[in-house]
Amino acid sequence: MTAAPLPPSSWLRVTASGLFCVPGAFHVDPTRPAERAIITHGHADHARPGHGSVLATAETLAIMRHRYPDEADRPGRMPLSFGQSVAVGDVAVKLVPAGHILGSAQVVLEFGGCRVVVSGDYKRQPDPTCSPFEPVPCDAFVSEATFGLPVFRHPDARAEIARLLASLRRFPDRAHLVGVYGLGKCQRVLHLLRDAGYDEPVYLHGALIGLTDLYRAHGIELGPTEPALGASRDALRGKIVLAPPSAAAERWSRRLPDPVVAMASGWMRVRQRARQRGVELPLIISDHADWDELNATIDEVAAPEVWITHGAEEAMVHAAGSRGIRARALSLLGREGEEGE
Ligand SMILES: [Zn+2]
Ligand SMILES: [Zn+2]
Repeated sequence: MTAAPLPPSSWLRVTASGLFCVPGAFHVDPTRPAERAIITHGHADHARPGHGSVLATAETLAIMRHRYPDEADRPGRMPLSFGQSVAVGDVAVKLVPAGHILGSAQVVLEFGGCRVVVSGDYKRQPDPTCSPFEPVPCDAFVSEATFGLPVFRHPDARAEIARLLASLRRFPDRAHLVGVYGLGKCQRVLHLLRDAGYDEPVYLHGALIGLTDLYRAHGIELGPTEPALGASRDALRGKIVLAPPSAAAERWSRRLPDPVVAMASGWMRVRQRARQRGVELPLIISDHADWDELNATIDEVAAPEVWITHGAEEAMVHAAGSRGIRARALSLLGREGEEGE
């Protein structure tokens, strides 16, 4: 007679630093320096510097070195390819693509006859700048819920880019300033523009250049870009300029000729948010799953148990519960201020 699988809550705990795997003695995405860390992806709310050892995809490690130069000198950074399995303590660990940003992974943990998937952040819309999400059937699924409310339904990103290009044709004398997060969204918007046939140079705020080059170094083609700094006011007429969301509202944008201020984010579904930020052209382009994708993914991995983290946890818990899934909110500290919506 074989022993019954151990319930996930007996070997995965929530500590002050986040999710901790007891038999592997590691944290997943710890919010403060930990002895052993497995990192799902490079966004700042998941990838913090200063851990003893780090297991992550090579892309995530490269992003961390880029953002935290001190990381380059630290030993114990181990890249793991998608699909490759490694033992950490008594736990078999595997990374599979999450479809969120370059290098983003779900962490598949197997212990005591039980498989748990910690999905990090993920999306299901196509995005050629990263490997597509791969559903893994499991006994427990840890899901984000950034856009876990029925109001959040993301349209096809290609249709949003078509609206940007239509505005550009309509206002050929105005610059189009698009607020984008520097890691993931910037490069996805560039790629979407190229797929839509736009082949003009796109002008980048200085804060976006390094990570865009890092994507290129990983083989992602993004077409011609120019630094916005140094381009004359007239040169930017009728052109697309990408900048971090904060720069769109600041002095920085005053150098642009009569800019149409756009922003690419899942939050642009909420008109009020767009207005507050002074966004004239809201573009609903998100790197997170929307309400339908979250629920479809939970059904697809067919886990009898789901743990919901950072976001609208209650609504997701309720929706999963009504479909007969044991769902609970997993309160993880330090997840305020999600990066890269
Ligand atoms: Zn993220
Ligand atoms: Zn996140």
